[in-house]
Amino acid sequence: MALFSRGGNKEEKQPKGESIHPLVGKEHLCQVCGGRRMFTRSWRRVHPLAQCPLCGVPFESVQKVYSQFQPQCPRCEEPLEQPGFDYGFCDGCGSKFEIVAGTKPGLLPNRQQREAMKKFGTTRRS
Ligand SMILES: [Zn+2]
Ligand SMILES: [Zn+2]
Repeated sequence: MALFSRGGNKEEKQPKGESIHPLVGKEHLCQVCGGRRMFTRSWRRVHPLAQCPLCGVPFESVQKVYSQFQPQCPRCEEPLEQPGFDYGFCDGCGSKFEIVAGTKPGLLPNRQQREAMKKFGTTRRS
């Protein structure tokens, strides 16, 4: 019979890169909506990601990827959640933010938002 061992057995824990700790949703300032919104879906990342949540590419070196100031997928540039940090989705627009107590949440742009930023960041030809 497989019984769950209670405490004392930390070795069994397998950091798969997907473990997150759900947080109680709070109201935050969403820079995309331009106002305060509820972030019902919030969580704290516990382990680093071993692969990209967007394109699924496994990271050759998790350490290398996470040595950057703002870790991102080497292939698709998806911003990666960092262990010990809090994240949440804005209820208003669905954007993902890194939530830091005492400051404005920082946007983790999705692919669409990144493309829009690139477009607006570069001067138009013609
Ligand atoms: Zn990726
Ligand atoms: Zn929003």
